[in-house]
Amino acid sequence: MAHNGTTQNGVAEEIPALPFPEPVKVQDIRHTKIFINNEWLTSSSGRTFPTFNPATCVKICDVEEGDKEDVDNAVKAAKAAGQRGSPWRKMDVSSRGKLLHMLADLVERDRVLLATLETLDTGKPFLQSFFIDLDGSIKTLRYYAGWTDKIQGKTMHVDESFMCLTKHEPVGVCGAIIPWNFPLLMFMWKIAPALTCGNTIVIKPAEQTPLTALHVGSLIKEAGFPPGVVNIIPGFGPTAGAAIASHMDIDKVAFTGSTEVGQLIKEAAAKSNLKRVTLELGGKNPCIVFADCDLQMAVEETQRGAFYNQGQCCTAASRVFVEETIYDEFVRRSVENAKKIVMGDPLDPQTTHGPQIDQQQFDKIMDLIESGKNEGARLEYGGAAVGEKSLFIQPTIFSEVKDHMRIAKEEIFGPVQCILSFKSQRKAVERANSTQYGLVSAVFTTSMDKALSVSAALDTGTVWINCYNNLHVQIPFGGCKMSGNGRELGEYALAEYTEVKAMIIKLSETL
Ligand code: NAP
Ligand code: MG
Repeated sequence: MAHNGTTQNGVAEEIPALPFPEPVKVQDIRHTKIFINNEWLTSSSGRTFPTFNPATCVKICDVEEGDKEDVDNAVKAAKAAGQRGSPWRKMDVSSRGKLLHMLADLVERDRVLLATLETLDTGKPFLQSFFIDLDGSIKTLRYYAGWTDKIQGKTMHVDESFMCLTKHEPVGVCGAIIPWNFPLLMFMWKIAPALTCGNTIVIKPAEQTPLTALHVGSLIKEAGFPPGVVNIIPGFGPTAGAAIASHMDIDKVAFTGSTEVGQLIKEAAAKSNLKRVTLELGGKNPCIVFADCDLQMAVEETQRGAFYNQGQCCTAASRVFVEETIYDEFVRRSVENAKKIVMGDPLDPQTTHGPQIDQQQFDKIMDLIESGKNEGARLEYGGAAVGEKSLFIQPTIFSEVKDHMRIAKEEIFGPVQCILSFKSQRKAVERANSTQYGLVSAVFTTSMDKALSVSAALDTGTVWINCYNNLHVQIPFGGCKMSGNGRELGEYALAEYTEVKAMIIKLSETL
């Protein structure tokens, strides 16, 4: 079956063949409350909010709505849990790793349920949830579990009368604000490195997709993490999210989402306590496809990059520059390839393409598609909504896209592939770089020399060569320019979650 997965976080390129796992029938959602100190609480305000299934637009359940007061309570719990002398702070580092492995075991145990919840809440195809998001989540926990006892400082030589060393200490209370496109995976990307380094956390899932994070709250308790180490506040950005960003007792905040909100987070951090900020924001990611590439592979990879997760990826391949001599054939094959996409019920294993997350995103994408038509791009495929009252949008391909068009400049965050043409290599790189974003890029060519010189010239945090969306927990991920600051994943992420303390010891006597 042509059920392509992408390689989100080190997963097989293709979703394995039958037998597929089956989604579970979810009768009741068990975890819908605020999780503080390993307890389930109702909101201080008494308010709740609904979460919807975007495939049916039917409410799944109501969730407690955390606000500033709940964030304050969570921060108090997190601060107490991480203070010097607390069980978490005193825990030997191997036991810390064992707890993270225990959590990974429990996520594996509940894998089908978590994948089902993720699909219900996001609309992403179930097999993608099961194989990509869950696999990436489990690998993230296990990878960082292996780091707990390998966080080391250095010794430095000054002269014979001093002994100097560095010690890597936890930053303290870490805040995290995450989006709705990969709710469970982003939850793990935030909590795993933070816990590895001995921090405590207050995390807010996106308002559209709180369910998997809350289920993992129950697993955190079951695994035996001390109370207050992880606190989960479902709620809204301008209230709960803003309270995290401006909190005086949060020492670091990690944010994934839009560039606009990223700017608000940095501003709030600056105006409160100058907390450390890492941001993983948007992208307008270029692919450069040279005439000497493996054409079919380039067609498939760039299109998977454009349409994966209904195009709702910060890494979406939204500007594909194709060398003029192969342009027409590339467009023709892209249209053929798109015909294989199966839209439908995300719980059906045959489905490879689900709905957009909500009406706001749907409207934004449809507006951009209209702008593409009006500005003179050629609509090659799709370009319309599906049905009257649904959030499904056809995978859409535009050719003859020009740099000045809105679809070539703005982040679409929907299933829209824009194909542009180029003649000169130098010009292609210049055009690829002429954006405020700098998250990822890709180069397709069989010339290693060309691949290396072009990738060296691309201003992005990641460059993929002859592949796309190839994310692995071992490899740092993050952007340049307005795509963000800092790196997640890999060893590099540890630096974001530790304070380096230098200790300088004067020796009383040199012998
Ligand atoms: P968003 O507003 O940036 O949402 C991301 C997270 O930030 C959510 O948890 C959100 O809470 C929270 N938030 C919103 N306003 C906040 C504030 N003032 N202070 C603190 N936290 C705040 O993104 P969106 O509105 O869902 O999507 C809009 C666009 O953002 C998309 O079209 C796409 O371009 C981009 N986006 C990027 C990513 C990514 O992976 N980099 C992911 C999602 C969206 P709520 O749940 O209340 O919104
Ligand atoms: Mg939902």
